[in-house]
Amino acid sequence: MKILGTEILPGSSHRLNMSIAKLHTHTPVHVPVIVERAKKDGPCLLFLGGIHGNEINGVEIVRKLVASKLNKPSCGTTICIPVLNIFGFLNRQREFPDGRDLNRVFPGSPNGSLASRFAHSMMTEIMPHVHYIIDYHTGGDGRFNYPQLRIGSNEAKTLELAKVFGVKFIKFAQHREKSFREIAFKQGKTILLFEGGKTNDLNPAVTAVGIQGAINVMKHLNMRTFKKDVNLHHENEQYIINGSTWIRAKYSGMFRSHVQNGTFVKKGDVLGTISDPFGYFERPVKSPGEGFILCYDHSPIVNQGTAIVHLTTQTV
Ligand SMILES: [Zn+2]
Repeated sequence: MKILGTEILPGSSHRLNMSIAKLHTHTPVHVPVIVERAKKDGPCLLFLGGIHGNEINGVEIVRKLVASKLNKPSCGTTICIPVLNIFGFLNRQREFPDGRDLNRVFPGSPNGSLASRFAHSMMTEIMPHVHYIIDYHTGGDGRFNYPQLRIGSNEAKTLELAKVFGVKFIKFAQHREKSFREIAFKQGKTILLFEGGKTNDLNPAVTAVGIQGAINVMKHLNMRTFKKDVNLHHENEQYIINGSTWIRAKYSGMFRSHVQNGTFVKKGDVLGTISDPFGYFERPVKSPGEGFILCYDHSPIVNQGTAIVHLTTQTV
């Protein structure tokens, strides 16, 4: 196995750098790639964070896997990339400096935009070695996702692994064109897309779910037997979500939620209130149907039409 020009021998650990471009100050920028190969052969599992530069909670999950050595397999290989979009991470932005979304330019090209070159490096340097992927994301902007996995609807192998991961919600979501998930799936890899928390935020509960999922998957793939059982998170129930809808603000104002994220609500339940800032009005936001709350917008100021609550409409 040769990654980024380095021979990866059985039983070895490597901290490699993927060098794609420099900053405009000539400063080289590296994307650290941490490889752990066991003496025994087995599958190769990629833990990926920071495709979107401001989704810090995903970065934190992969960082913790490395820092606590949970990424050391007894069989097979793990590759950890805590921050792929390092330019966005530096700028605390989702996209690259030219506004391009890395997750919409796969498989990329060696002569394309900066984001496209990053995608191309991933595809040529890393992906040929990989069998399984966990791609960690958060909700966009202030939207706080209850920890969940997104998978395609007709992917039996992916669904099996998603169940093993152990989240409360597995949501069927179509592949977005030119996303990493779409390209990885087309290449025959099994990829789980984790969504949890919101941008520019660290949430220990979300991190715990992400780490526990990584452990559960490694155990299932026989990549590691953990001497001491790690019990960070356990779900008693699991739901497969086939449909969902966004509840939009009927008024402009300040929104506050009353019901916990991830819980089941009935039609007519008051999910929160919207008020003006001057004390003239306060209106309830009622649930249009029954379902689980998947996401809340945490940014308090909303306009008419702002998507404020993501509600499931159909479970399998
Ligand atoms: Zn993302």
